[in-house]
Amino acid sequence: KTVLALETSCDETAAAVVRDRTVLSNIVASQIDIHRRYGGVVPEVASRAHVENLGAVVAAALQDADVTWADIDGVAATCAPGLVGALMVGVTAGKTLAMLHSKPFLGIHHLEGHIYASYLSQRALQPPYLCLLVSGGHTSLIHVQDCGQYELLGKTRDDAAGEAFDKVARLLDLGYPGGPVIDKLAAQGDPTAFKLPEGNISLPGGGVHPYDSSFSGLKTAVLRLVQSLQDDGIDPMPVNDLCASFQETVAKGLTKRTIRCAQDYGLTTIAVGGGVAANSGLRQHLSAAAAEQGLQVLFPPLKYCTDNAAMIGCAAADHLARGHQSDFKLGTRSRMDLAEVMTLYA
Ligand code: ATP
Ligand code: MG
Ligand code: FE
Repeated sequence: KTVLALETSCDETAAAVVRDRTVLSNIVASQIDIHRRYGGVVPEVASRAHVENLGAVVAAALQDADVTWADIDGVAATCAPGLVGALMVGVTAGKTLAMLHSKPFLGIHHLEGHIYASYLSQRALQPPYLCLLVSGGHTSLIHVQDCGQYELLGKTRDDAAGEAFDKVARLLDLGYPGGPVIDKLAAQGDPTAFKLPEGNISLPGGGVHPYDSSFSGLKTAVLRLVQSLQDDGIDPMPVNDLCASFQETVAKGLTKRTIRCAQDYGLTTIAVGGGVAANSGLRQHLSAAAAEQGLQVLFPPLKYCTDNAAMIGCAAADHLARGHQSDFKLGTRSRMDLAEVMTLYA
């Protein structure tokens, strides 16, 4: 199936044309430069920028793919979770285009899109497998059973992994977004310079939760460390070592929980998604540990890890091939569990 897909859940205005697992075009207009001056995404500013950019982005996606409306089998848009005002822009545009051209419309769950990013570079991938989704808003271990069938096995109890990178970067005064800059500075630092808490969840009976994470304590530990270095008159601040130690701690904790989860559920393939999948520390640790345990690990190329519409189109093409489509009354939701995906289709 060939789908025109729109993604406007956060700060990327994106459109793509996807034929099953093949990307025919993939246009992303990032708003990062607009939001950077506020130190984070401002919802109202995001919605307005989506309205301003979407028309040109859709036109470019159709032109790049070299398709006409006769080639398009359906129109899809991310409908949850995300910023409601931002989602509304994509969903309204998607429904309008679908209605105008008499095509089915499909609302897509943003996280299902992140899961489908793996198929764009690994066309032979088939469920069941384990997806480690590490993004700005999520840190999830998902048992992918089939199209639309997901079991959440692990999650963060507080900050997401990407959020932790962004917050630590902010407290080190490194700008927004934090992941890429911490990754770069960490390469020049000593990952064993400082010992930090791994972000485990303690269980009432003792021991730690095998799959859940907590990153807010880690962020606070970095803050305290910086304060105590300042109190000791350390100048300049060993920023590279701090970044390296923080990144190492996140990568090790995520790797441990992911490998354990794959083994416990007998899943031999791990697909990673979300912006933090770009992190070199995570890539190194998880690849090495997976190889040691005889597990396959897949990292999609960076352009499919961060928000894009190609991943949304890939999910939509699969749903459409199974006869799924959404009601034109479908709304948007800021929060939605992956277990609810099939409620989006009639
Ligand atoms: P969600 O999908 O949960 O709604 P999102 O779509 O905003 O969140 P993404 O766009 O997938 O999240 O990822 C953005 C996050 O990835 C940011 O927090 C950013 O700091 C982080 N990130 C990007 N590159 C790297 C990197 N190399 N290392 C670590 N983190 C990174
Ligand atoms: Mg983003
Ligand atoms: Fe995302």
